[in-house]
Amino acid sequence: MSLSQQIMEQTEETVLHTYNRFPVVFDHGEGVHLYDADGKEYLDFGAGIAVFALGYGNEAYKDALKAQIDKLIHTSNLYYHKPLADAAGQIIRHTGLSKVFFTNSGAEAIEGAIKAARKYAYTRDGSADHEIIAMNHSFHGRTVGALSVTGNSHYQDPFKPLMGGVKFADFNDFESVLSSVTDKTCAIIMETVQGEGGIYPADPEFIRAVRKLCDERDILLILDEIQCGMGRTGEWFACNAYGVRPDIMTLAKALGCGVPVGAFVLNEKAAASSLVPGDHGTTYGGNPLACAAVAKVFELFDEMDLVSHVKKTAPYLEKKLDELVEKYDFLTCRRGAGFMQGIVVKDRPVGAIVKKALEMGLVILSAGSDVIRLVPPLVITEADIDEMIRLLEASF
Ligand SMILES: *Cc1c(COP(=O)(O)O)cnc(C)c1O
Repeated sequence: MSLSQQIMEQTEETVLHTYNRFPVVFDHGEGVHLYDADGKEYLDFGAGIAVFALGYGNEAYKDALKAQIDKLIHTSNLYYHKPLADAAGQIIRHTGLSKVFFTNSGAEAIEGAIKAARKYAYTRDGSADHEIIAMNHSFHGRTVGALSVTGNSHYQDPFKPLMGGVKFADFNDFESVLSSVTDKTCAIIMETVQGEGGIYPADPEFIRAVRKLCDERDILLILDEIQCGMGRTGEWFACNAYGVRPDIMTLAKALGCGVPVGAFVLNEKAAASSLVPGDHGTTYGGNPLACAAVAKVFELFDEMDLVSHVKKTAPYLEKKLDELVEKYDFLTCRRGAGFMQGIVVKDRPVGAIVKKALEMGLVILSAGSDVIRLVPPLVITEADIDEMIRLLEASF
């Protein structure tokens, strides 16, 4: 039995079977390529689910982590440390928001945002029992609170009863949101670009109308930028393109470029009258190693001008994908923004295309039931895009 087979077998014997994994054992990465245990090369247009924005093996990033490992990995949140101040400063500067709380994952960032919104309304009204409006086909994570605002019955049903006080409206349908608002609504939560649900960007009129509604009714707008933030759409945050700023923004995925870290970020208003000492906490969240990663990621994004690179290169990716949609009858349309793109597939199982692509040496993802999702490292070039198109066509 090969080493790869041994690893796969041992994994299946010992790790709870919540994923149907592809039969590949990844060993290392370099630039925009991954290599499996047998040395086979893969062009990576999945980036570990929109995480590894910098590409693999960035020396400055690795050096920053190694230096922090040598110094101090963990302290708890009972004390101060420089990486925390550095990372928080970077997030505040880049988002224009006011205060940040670090978590270990995206789902935990959502949990924190929900608690902050409820506490905000509780502080204002002196009573609890507030409601949150979430979107159909959304995805916010797998913990019970995050699952409660995830508009997907397949994910929710086995785990009911979930957190109460959640109403679902249709994304990009303002009337549906408006008709869900009551005096008890404390927050509206949505992804600026829906990811797992099938790559649906918000319509400008919709998101602006929701922002206005929230202002008028003192409802907090929570924008989940866990997948679409951090430069992925060609803006630092996807909401920038709409001129809309949330009251609370959630971040994770590319925030640490591989080190597990998330954050929820509050504007002055939300921060000033929501969570106070004793309301929320985490042992690991924002530890020195995670924060060293976050601080370095922002520094490198700026140094490399990565967000402008995405903005400049995305039209080429879009053009190439549009040509594919034109060429193949089973591809019906393209949706997305920047380096977060989906191609809608009909009459063919997306899973089979993803699997075939992997055999051809191309890592891609699916989203929803019928969408090929491309969320490459942000450092890809036009030549990488050409190579991706070649491999994708070969796998068709
Ligand atoms: C991945 C994702 C989450 C959940 O993040 P985890 O780190 O997996 O908990 C939440 N919201 C969006 C939009 C995501 O893409």
